[in-house]
Amino acid sequence: MAAPSRLLIRGGRVVNDDLSQVADVLVEDGVVRALGRDLLPPGGAPAGLRVLDAAGKLVLPGGIDTHTHMQFPFMGARSVDDFHQGTKAALAGGTTMIIDFAIPQKGSSLIKAFETWRSWADPKVCCDYSLHVAVTWWSDQVKEEMKILTQDKGVNSFKMFMAYKDLYMVRDEELYAAFSQCKEIGAIAQVHAENGDLIAEGAKKMLALGITGPEGHELCRPEAVEAEATLRAITIASAVNCPLYIVHVMSKSAAKVIADARRDGKVVYGEPIAASLGTDGTHYWHKDWHHAAHHVMGPPLRPDPSTPDFLMNLLANGDLTTTGTDHCTFNTCQKALGKDDFTKIPNGVNGVEDRMSVIWEKGVHSGKMDENRFVAVTSTNAAKVFNLYPRKGRIAVGSDADIVIWDPKATRTISARTHHQTVNFNIFEGMVCHGVPLVTISRGKVVYEAGVLSVTAGDGKFIPRKPFAEYIYKRIKQRDQVKSEKRILLFPSLLSVVSPWRNRPHFNSPRCF
Ligand SMILES: [Zn+2]
Repeated sequence: MAAPSRLLIRGGRVVNDDLSQVADVLVEDGVVRALGRDLLPPGGAPAGLRVLDAAGKLVLPGGIDTHTHMQFPFMGARSVDDFHQGTKAALAGGTTMIIDFAIPQKGSSLIKAFETWRSWADPKVCCDYSLHVAVTWWSDQVKEEMKILTQDKGVNSFKMFMAYKDLYMVRDEELYAAFSQCKEIGAIAQVHAENGDLIAEGAKKMLALGITGPEGHELCRPEAVEAEATLRAITIASAVNCPLYIVHVMSKSAAKVIADARRDGKVVYGEPIAASLGTDGTHYWHKDWHHAAHHVMGPPLRPDPSTPDFLMNLLANGDLTTTGTDHCTFNTCQKALGKDDFTKIPNGVNGVEDRMSVIWEKGVHSGKMDENRFVAVTSTNAAKVFNLYPRKGRIAVGSDADIVIWDPKATRTISARTHHQTVNFNIFEGMVCHGVPLVTISRGKVVYEAGVLSVTAGDGKFIPRKPFAEYIYKRIKQRDQVKSEKRILLFPSLLSVVSPWRNRPHFNSPRCF
């Protein structure tokens, strides 16, 4: 590992979610030390200070990918991007932090799963990372472990699956219990929102009809299956006043449910992913089976080709909040496990390297959002929701020096032949993207420059996250407080509302009961 260096990023346009300004950024010991005009001493750069010219370029907070599955054992395979290759690819694409998922089997310990994922990631990661933990079953032990993970292990987000019946799926009463515990310990509840029972029935029906190809994957889980579960999760979370985060929003219907709930004042956040913003589900009908299978993920991409634009508009105007990728990559030979039966195709697509460029191209270059909103949806909002802000998601004095020098005018063509992801396929193949990361800086170290990576496995660090993120919990706490005050104030008047009924002649009559 190279000694921590001093860097001066000169003359770029520093973009935060609320402001863009031309400024120099001085980086020392992995953090931003100074931000302002003309930070270079008049005599030139002193020894030990490296100057990076960013004139005419943007200087952005490094991306935070809220949703990855590196080296995930799933559906009889293991995703091929491990924590080393996956985080290298992230850095090459301008992402400097990932949040992955520790997922226990039903009946096993959450803490053990967390420790297992840490043991996989710690020696390999090239950028900072954190872990969400999944709740795949319910018991007093699970409840207690959620508390320990939050208090001692730096976990403030728990994901529940409403799909993957018999594997990870939990029922409504378990969701209710898990949401209640999230609220108690100050975590945010996350859900994979799809109706697992309907999917299981739909899959049987498709196979009985002789539909065994990848198109069956979408046909057995249409949009309504995602929208219904999204609404159900919001209803349950709302019943216990627990903040809720819907991972991988894939359809217009589900996005509309989230937008409506937010207009109703619900504390709910939606996360579209690079795949749902950058491509669509027409690929499931591609004549090449492998091509189609490489797009299989859950929930599926939607065949309605207006979906990506619709989701991008909602992301631009604030109905949707963050962006991840659900990066979970399987090679062609692994996808072939389902060659005779679409239910056996390992679910997952790429995106960790592509997300920033895809969102710049489809979001900023298209004119749907500006550079500040781009920063909000690619890093700042994630940092706020998951309580990493302003250490991450902002370029300010004291923040971690996770920075990207970004060329908004340059273009690159995404291809599996040139990408740094291990997987032998790219769902964005051939897409020409404006917005190219020129230099990526991770904790003050230049790790990617002019197309060349210089990383060391294990240089990334696990970033613990504290509970009760202000960005989400200020409102929740205030609502609880006002509600309890109201209850006390309203109690006498409530009595008077009830009492006239009490006086009705038949009120105590046995006939009424
Ligand atoms: Zn996922």
